[in-house]
Amino acid sequence: MPLADVEVLTPASADEAIAAFGDGGGVTVIGGGTIVMPDLTAGRLRATKALLLSRAGLDSVARAEGKVTIGAAAPLSALEDGDEPLATAARHCADPEIRGQATVGGNVCSVASGDAPRGDLQAPLIALGASVRSVGAGGERTEPIEDFLANLTGRLVLEISYDDAKRKTSYAASTRPHTHHYTILAVAAADREGELRVAATGLGPHAVKIDPENPLAGLDPPDDAVASGWYRAQVLPKLVERALADLS
Ligand SMILES: Cc1cc2nc3c(=O)[nH]c(=O)nc-3n(C[C@H](O)[C@H](O)[C@H](O)COP(=O)(O)OP(=O)(O)OC[C@H]3O[C@@H](n4cnc5c(N)ncnc54)[C@H](O)[C@@H]3O)c2cc1C
Repeated sequence: MPLADVEVLTPASADEAIAAFGDGGGVTVIGGGTIVMPDLTAGRLRATKALLLSRAGLDSVARAEGKVTIGAAAPLSALEDGDEPLATAARHCADPEIRGQATVGGNVCSVASGDAPRGDLQAPLIALGASVRSVGAGGERTEPIEDFLANLTGRLVLEISYDDAKRKTSYAASTRPHTHHYTILAVAAADREGELRVAATGLGPHAVKIDPENPLAGLDPPDDAVASGWYRAQVLPKLVERALADLS
């Protein structure tokens, strides 16, 4: 279907976005569009109805009542000077142009392609114990990000939040030097009063929480255009070791 035939919905509030999304049937959500637009233009993705979130008022980053709440349409650049390990992961994503356009919701909802892992913010958000508030079939729900990632189709993400608490954090990444800078593998860790949470990006379609004592347990790292699964399996224990040593 040519792009000219796509019905474009531009809600002006969160409520309008929720109403336009409905149960999600036949709706393609566009956050910053850095993944969706090239896919649509190249014909890899077909859409009949596109829901643009850029004017829906979902782009704030707020700290209130012991929580940090990030709107789904907040750009990655808004996190670059914020809480760790999210800030370092955000600074590692792509280049300034992409970070100004790409959204946190789009990052949380992106899955690895055959070319490279995507969704670099997912591991830090798992380490921070974040929750995702979304709507779709069955109504609204707020759930731990690991649960959301395991079953994300047909949902519209509204916001992501985590406790505004003191933590020791770290981020260790293996990246490939390139103008656009895709991450091969990254480990994010957060220690909140002795409760350690460690997660990794680059081990599958989306980030996963890992056991630092046995980081590869139950995982079969993928091959893609930036690295082999074998390479990832060799590097992962080193990154975990570095992340644990760097907690501060
Ligand atoms: C040159 C280049 C370099 C890149 N480098 C990196 C990198 O280093 N790390 C990285 O993680 N990514 C990278 N990316 C991929 C991408 O830019 C990011 O993952 C970005 O955060 C995606 O956000 P977006 O808002 O542009 O997503 P979009 O393209 O708008 O959407 C991506 C997916 O999420 C869905 N979606 C978007 N918003 C929502 C929502 N609120 N609710 C439900 N579904 C939603 C869309 O329907 C689509 O399936 C790169 C991309 C390019 C082009």
